[in-house]
Amino acid sequence: MLKFKSYIRSSLFLILFFYFTGCSQLTSINMYSTSEEIALGNRYSFQIEKQLQLIYDPLVNDYINDLGQRLVRVSKRNNIKYTFKVVNDPAVNAFAIPGGHCYVNLGLIDFADTESELASVIGHEIGHVVGEHGMENMTKQNIIGIAGAIALGSNPSFGEEFMSSLIQTGIITNYGRAAELEADKLGIEQMHDAGIDPNGSKKFFEKLAMEEKEGSSKMASILSTHPPTSIRIKKATKIIKDLPPKKYDDLTSKSFQDLKEYLLRIKDK
Ligand code: ZN
Repeated sequence: MLKFKSYIRSSLFLILFFYFTGCSQLTSINMYSTSEEIALGNRYSFQIEKQLQLIYDPLVNDYINDLGQRLVRVSKRNNIKYTFKVVNDPAVNAFAIPGGHCYVNLGLIDFADTESELASVIGHEIGHVVGEHGMENMTKQNIIGIAGAIALGSNPSFGEEFMSSLIQTGIITNYGRAAELEADKLGIEQMHDAGIDPNGSKKFFEKLAMEEKEGSSKMASILSTHPPTSIRIKKATKIIKDLPPKKYDDLTSKSFQDLKEYLLRIKDK
């Protein structure tokens, strides 16, 4: 029996080995269940929030959460709970981790001239959760995946160390080009379905490209972790063009303008 078990195990290992080394379409594989993803996401967010300076202003948080949930409701994966938090960081960026934890930098809100531009980046981040891109990364790192399953189990101190190493290496949050472009597409579709003008996405990329030319340091992290902006503009233009006609809300909203004015007011203080 024991021999049989070890035979099964080594066969499984071989199958996984050939599967993971011989298959070029890794981006659609996720070996984890939703509950494992949520457990991992909760631990990861707990660790990462120790390193972030979160903003606890209810006006700012409520606005971002409302906008995020509006996009989540029409997303292709709205059966899990998403959270949206604001980070006091001037870099123009946002990020999401498995399990639906999304973080939006203050620098991004500053940079956005319209609600639609801001929604495009939040929609992109939701797209990473919808596409399960973080868990695909975990799956691709098979060995770590197994260690992760152990970490999520019985040994919390090992789990903490494991989470810190995951964060440091960026294994979960550095997605490949295919995943990034898929997140762009999902984000644009969510905007359309939520009644938010998807042209904000194109506008955001165009502004990003302009800042890139000027070498703005606030853009360094978003540019280094995403495909060339020219490709994103080209793809977004095509996706938007192919969407069925729809009447969208105005590019910006009263609540967005109120938020921007409020942020300016508290900045001056
Ligand atoms: Zn991304």
